Amino acid sequence: MKRVIAIANQKGGVGKTTTAVNLAASLAATKRRTLLIDLDPQGNATMGCGVDKAQIARGSCEALLGESDVASALVTVEPAGLSLLAANQDLTAAEVRLLTMIAGREIKLRAALKPVRDNFDVILIDCPPALNMLTVNALVAADSVLIPMQCEYYALEGLSALLATIEQIRAAANPPLELEGILRTMFDPRNNLANEVSAQLIQHFGDKVFRTIIPRNIRLAEAPSFGRPVLFHDKESRGALAYLALAGEMIRREDEERETAARGAEGPASAPASSESGPTQSVNGGGAEAAAGNGAEAVTTTADGMPGFAMIGDHDAKEA
Ligand code: ADP
Ligand code: MG
Repeated sequence: MKRVIAIANQKGGVGKTTTAVNLAASLAATKRRTLLIDLDPQGNATMGCGVDKAQIARGSCEALLGESDVASALVTVEPAGLSLLAANQDLTAAEVRLLTMIAGREIKLRAALKPVRDNFDVILIDCPPALNMLTVNALVAADSVLIPMQCEYYALEGLSALLATIEQIRAAANPPLELEGILRTMFDPRNNLANEVSAQLIQHFGDKVFRTIIPRNIRLAEAPSFGRPVLFHDKESRGALAYLALAGEMIRREDEERETAARGAEGPASAPASSESGPTQSVNGGGAEAAAGNGAEAVTTTADGMPGFAMIGDHDAKEA
C-alpha cells in the first residue's frame, strides 16, 4: 500500500467516493493514521463523513491555492477516527484559478501535502469525475492510483483514457506513479455482462485487479445520508465487510512486498536482472501500449475533461 493513493475514474457514479470514505474508515479501524482528501467540488466525501460542506472555512480549496496550510485545515472525523480535508463547490473556482496560473499548477496539491505526509500512514484522495486539473493535481501528488470500476459495457473504454492520462503524468511529472489496483464495485454476480467484463479485466490486468469485490449493497448507499462510513451504520453489512476486506488485502499485499524486498536485500542470489527495477513493472498490462501515444492533450492543456467521457455524475443507487 502506497502512502498517497488517488482514487480516480473520470466516470461519475462508479464508486469513487464510496470507496474513499469507506476504505479510509476501514484503514483507520486498523489503527492506521488516515487522511481523506475530498478533491471533488460536489463535496460528497465531506458529507459522507458527516461534515457540513456549507460550513467549511478552510479545506482542499484553500490548501490548493496556498491560502491555508493543510494541517490547520484538517477536520477530525469521529467516530471513524480519521482526518478529513473537506471540499465544497469553491473547489470549482480554485480549479479555474489554477488554470490561469502559468507555472506549477499541477504540483499545488503535492506541495501542500509535503509538510503533513509523514503524519499519516495513508492518504486517500477522492477525485472528481473528470480528467481535469484537480485530478491531475491528485495524480501528481499520489504514489499510486486506485481505480474503482463498475463492470459494465463502457467501463473498459473509459479505462484506456485514464491509463493514458496516468502514463502521461508519469512521463511528465511523477515517474514513480503506480497502479495500486482496479476495484470492481457495485458488483452483481447474477449479471452475465458484469462477469464477462470482470473476466476481461483479470485477463488484461492480472493481479492488479483486487481480489476483493465490492457488492451492490443498500447499506453502502444509505450510509452517506447518516453522515457516516458504513462501518458505523451497519458493521455487519456486506458492504462494510467488503471494504474491511479491501483494507485487509491492501495491508497484506504491503506486507508481502516488504518481505520480498527484504529477501532481495539479504540474498546475493536474488538479482538476476540488474538491481531492483522498482515498482513500475507493467502498470497496465494490455492497455499499456495504447496508453503512450494517444490523447496527448488531456493532461497539461485542458480543464474540460476528455471529449466523449461524460460526467454522468448521477447518484442513483439502483438496487433491486
Ligand atoms: P463516484 O464518486 O464515482 O461518483 P459514488 O461513490 O458517489 O460514485 O457512487 C455513486 C452512487 O452509487 C452513490 O449514490 C452511492 O451511494 C452508490 N453506491 C456506490 N457504491 C455502491 C455499492 N457498492 N452498492 C450500492 N450503492 C453504491
Ligand atoms: Mg464522487
